[in-house]
Amino acid sequence: MTSPDSTAHAHHRPLTTLEQAIQSDALDCVMCGICVPHCPTFSLTHNEADGPRGRISLLLGISQGLLTPDADVSRHLDTCLTCRACETVCPSGVAYGRLIDNGRTRLAQEPAPATRPRAEARFWRLLRDQLLTRRRRLGMAWQMYRVMQRLGLGGMARRLAGPMGRALPRQLIHAAPAQASTQQQASPRGRVGLFIGCTGAAMNAPAVAAARAAITAFGYQPVIPGDQICCGAMHAHSGEPQAAARQRERNAAAFKAAGVDEVIVVGTACTAELSALQASHGLKVREITEWLLGREPEEWPRLSTLDYRVALHTPCSQRNHLKQPDTSRRLLESIPGLELLEIDGNARCCGAAGMQVLLYPAQAERLREPKLESIERLAPDVVVSANVGCATHLAAGANRVVKQPVELLAESIVAASD
Ligand code: SF4
Ligand code: SF4
Repeated sequence: MTSPDSTAHAHHRPLTTLEQAIQSDALDCVMCGICVPHCPTFSLTHNEADGPRGRISLLLGISQGLLTPDADVSRHLDTCLTCRACETVCPSGVAYGRLIDNGRTRLAQEPAPATRPRAEARFWRLLRDQLLTRRRRLGMAWQMYRVMQRLGLGGMARRLAGPMGRALPRQLIHAAPAQASTQQQASPRGRVGLFIGCTGAAMNAPAVAAARAAITAFGYQPVIPGDQICCGAMHAHSGEPQAAARQRERNAAAFKAAGVDEVIVVGTACTAELSALQASHGLKVREITEWLLGREPEEWPRLSTLDYRVALHTPCSQRNHLKQPDTSRRLLESIPGLELLEIDGNARCCGAAGMQVLLYPAQAERLREPKLESIERLAPDVVVSANVGCATHLAAGANRVVKQPVELLAESIVAASD
């Protein structure tokens, strides 16, 4: 790894620790360009500054004081999806995910937000902090949308939701279905924590209900601490690492207080964010699909045949962050009867990418388009994605039911116990 010389700074002031970290990672890049064709945002604009190599150069220039992060420069960095497809193919091992997170933290230190007017930036921060990352409030808003849909007012609700309306699913949202019994066995094999995130009472509620039922059916007791909060991913990827760290601390305390040392997470992006708890707090963090696949053969309940054609989407957080590209497929292969179909271009981000779907809806929709076309061609009974953000984004555009893998497993368990 190259060690930057802090005396070489253009303005002859010592580099901050953050700038040193940015330079250190950026200087690992040999500018070979292998990553560039794998970048979804580059594929849309064919502008070097919208690809990983260009963004690395921009970050290097900013950290060296050679480049001012004006609106144009900041926008090229802001539109990065943090999908880390570039990192996955990089032969030099550039830690691009860490680099762009540090870069955004550096941009957040600028006196005024360069990418959008101050009032608009404040609106999005308020929305994130007061609604999107608050489980109860988001759950209530989601229920209201469901009620309006039932009254035939879904279109009006989407218009009233302003910039969020485009991200809401058009098809009727159903309440979390009745799942397999969560009646606890007299002597469970163990107690495990269940992380349900800020979407656990809203768009992720059916997957959470399915996860509880599946964990119980495997003989374990799921414990859901009420004082768990958002995983912090939205803050971590928008230049606020201290806020994300505080959220991780609160979650660690909640699960420690619940007396569990294993945390099962419903959603791949939250798992990636919370996986740091393993090193910092000794909490074993597992995504629900991975945890289920790790069960011993004797722990598996009876499964019934599901006669579905399933189009499988693999989220970037599962493929590139957790490095588990096959877990959803392997879990679904364990359910008899399913016919698995691969959505074209699965390795390319669908555009949801946390808050990007709200901040850059046109980009998100252009990246989703080829996936929707592929889904239409496949004409599956159900689309499956292991991340709630991707599932909601796909559902907002597809005329199909979108579920998480654990929901199909729970359905198979229920059918076998009938
Ligand atoms: S993280 Fe994704 S969007 Fe960002 S530069 Fe890498 S490949 Fe492109
Ligand atoms: S990030 Fe890696 S693959 Fe991309 S240009 Fe740099 S060295 Fe090459």
